[in-house]
Amino acid sequence: MAENTVEGTASPTRRNVLRIEDLAIDYRQGFGRTFRAVQGITLDIAPGETVGLVGESGSGKSTIGNAVLGLQPPAEGSVQVLGEDVALRGRRSHEPGPVQVVLQNPYRAFNPFKSIAWSLLEPLTAAGGGAKPGRDGLVSAALAGVGLDPSYARRYPRELSGGQLQRVAIARSLISDPALIVCDEPVSSLDASVCGQVLNLLTAKQRERELAYLFISHDMNVVRLMCDRVYVLYRGRIVEQGSTEKVFADPQHEYTRKLIAAIPDRAESLRQRAANAV
Ligand code: ADP
Ligand code: MG
Repeated sequence: MAENTVEGTASPTRRNVLRIEDLAIDYRQGFGRTFRAVQGITLDIAPGETVGLVGESGSGKSTIGNAVLGLQPPAEGSVQVLGEDVALRGRRSHEPGPVQVVLQNPYRAFNPFKSIAWSLLEPLTAAGGGAKPGRDGLVSAALAGVGLDPSYARRYPRELSGGQLQRVAIARSLISDPALIVCDEPVSSLDASVCGQVLNLLTAKQRERELAYLFISHDMNVVRLMCDRVYVLYRGRIVEQGSTEKVFADPQHEYTRKLIAAIPDRAESLRQRAANAV
């Protein structure tokens, strides 16, 4: 475990948006056997912060993201959002939750038979609001907020490019005014040319409100660009954490060093692309 935990931890005087404590998640394997995917996970996020969760494929990143969304019950430990246990909240509330999600593949994240307008409003309607008149304005504003023309409301997912559909995914995640968005590999399936634009959009939306991101990625360049702090996950355990600057400049764990050494030298080009993107 790295020594830079105190330096890298959010100020305890600010109330955490997310607090994960000693979390373990098990998957059932049949015949009564279970597989422990993650173990001993302790992680916090302050309002307005972007916290990276990095690690190779299969290290348990999405498992933790799903636990934050209330989709995976803890085998041990707890997940609290705004001071409330995620598992308990899901059972009693009919309002859209304070945590939303943006996934890797936008085409899989949308119902292909539903219009963009329908999908955009889904977090509200799924929470029991029903389709209400007067929501057209909400849809137009949501689309405009991510740089898309209101006419996209009538289109279907297949009629949009990957980058455009990921913009809609971001608009959908924002429509219920969440405190935290789990971004699970949000640009990993996009062309390099639109990747910077989508990252810029996430940053811009964060500045408009005190939005926090749990930013899951295997791409160290993207993490370096986006995150205030980083947790490094290796085989289901956090092996290192700290400010992005510190972890990249002075990695303590051998696995972190390997991840950084394996970075293709395109950090600068990514930064430039983000700077040039509208
Ligand atoms: P990552 O997102 O870092 O690629 P995951 O959280 O998806 O990793 O997976 C972590 C581990 O848990 C992997 O070994 C994976 O095979 C296993 N796993 C993930 N989802 C399930 C599931 N629904 N059932 C059983 N095992 C799973
Ligand atoms: Mg994953």
